[in-house]
Amino acid sequence: MSKNLTKRSEDYSKWYNELVVKADLAENSGVRGCMVIKPYGYAIWEKMQAELDRMFKETGHQNAYFPLFVPKSMFEAEEKNAEGFAKECAIVTHYRLKNDPDKPGKLMVDPNAKLEEELIVRPTSEAIIWSTYKGWVQSYRDLPLLINQWANVVRWEMRTRLFLRTAEFLWQEGHTAHATQSEAIAESEQMMNVYADFAQNFMAIPVIKGIKTETERFAGAVETYCIEALMQDGKALQAGTSHFLGQNFAKAFDVKFANAEGKQEHVWGTSWGVSTRLMGALVMTHSDDNGLVLPPNLAPIQVVIVPIYKTDEEFAAISEAANTLVSQLRKLRISVKFDDRTTQKPGFKFAEWELKGVPVRVAVGPKDLENGTFEVARRDTLSKEVVLKDNIVNHINGLLEEIQDSLFNKALEYRDTHVTEVNSFDEFKDVLENKGGFIAAHWDGTPETEEKIKDLTKATIRCIALDRVEEAGSCVFTGKPSVGRVLFAKAY
Ligand code: AMP
Repeated sequence: MSKNLTKRSEDYSKWYNELVVKADLAENSGVRGCMVIKPYGYAIWEKMQAELDRMFKETGHQNAYFPLFVPKSMFEAEEKNAEGFAKECAIVTHYRLKNDPDKPGKLMVDPNAKLEEELIVRPTSEAIIWSTYKGWVQSYRDLPLLINQWANVVRWEMRTRLFLRTAEFLWQEGHTAHATQSEAIAESEQMMNVYADFAQNFMAIPVIKGIKTETERFAGAVETYCIEALMQDGKALQAGTSHFLGQNFAKAFDVKFANAEGKQEHVWGTSWGVSTRLMGALVMTHSDDNGLVLPPNLAPIQVVIVPIYKTDEEFAAISEAANTLVSQLRKLRISVKFDDRTTQKPGFKFAEWELKGVPVRVAVGPKDLENGTFEVARRDTLSKEVVLKDNIVNHINGLLEEIQDSLFNKALEYRDTHVTEVNSFDEFKDVLENKGGFIAAHWDGTPETEEKIKDLTKATIRCIALDRVEEAGSCVFTGKPSVGRVLFAKAY
């Protein structure tokens, strides 16, 4: 197994692209901007899905499924949302092809099969879902509606990157409807917190919770809550969003309910989503120049056992020890693989599992059998130790927890040392160029200043952190008054 990964310090972006492909997570496809997610990558996504799905259900949500297509008139109903997504829409105009009379063997669009109304391939599903909710809500007794859907969406992105930004991506989108404003706001905050919990405890990715500025807000939302993560190259990544929609969609789709007094009111809404972009966040947060580093909670294979042998007798004896360990670990619900391929040498297997980020590798050879030991290696620190057979199960169990915590702490330390307060625009540019990370700076609150800073530096306001300290200051760019610092960064 040849790795030959580009080093992060040489070309971070190249390192990422190579790693995603070499670790067998995904590859580019024959369709512009769309990727093939390979079995190993999909297994990680499935683990993310399973945990998120559990968290959604625990907070009272149910899954449902809505159509891929949205009739254009329906899509247009909430004007801001439609306008915001207009530039990224794929549109179905015809429903049939026919043989091209001028080019044998080729097909052409059948001009007689033009759709009466064009269909938009959903870039997000508020329109189709709120048009459905109209039929589901009559009285306050029908509320709240707490629905999630797992689906694919299409946004015609111009510059795409595997997982981080693709034209078609997989995600979940929650869409909820409530009788009161305060309940809907509480729901959007709750789901931001669910995402933050998931990112931190499951993906070992520290995140900052915040709200977006008007410029960065979801089209059609009143408020966008978000979680922002920091990648190892000092660029930020929006890892999840949760929107308070006010009554915007209820008004656009005429979704009303009779309150307890029998009066008609518009419903309040939220929507929230995370996507396969999280796979990119995972890679970019923990992995190193040797390959993927997976937190145990998300690793499809948590422990791999590699036999080291010369003769068939040795292989048989080692296999017996390995299989015993496999069944002991499985009892603890630890996912373990005994790599008993006879077609590859141990060195190849070591390199392969290192590249694929398996958190714990156990090697066992004839010496170990004699001594009643195993050699245990950690993927994150690349350290090795010899562990007695009697203690091996406990040791691995504890080690998996330790690796999970240690990955989070390492990422947290990086993040915390990459939030820099600046008080002048020169300092701002200097930190952005030479250090990266989040820049905590005063801003005058106007979209104009935000835009100018973006034009000059490519940095955008990632969020107004929920836990920021209110502190009077003056805008780093205009010198106008500011009520607190916001977080700028270059972002994916
Ligand atoms: P939004 O509906 O724009 O709030 O996005 C919902 C989630 O999808 C956020 O976590 C985004 O970061 C993510 N996302 C948006 N666009 C893309 C894309 N082109 N590829 C992958 N993920 C995306």
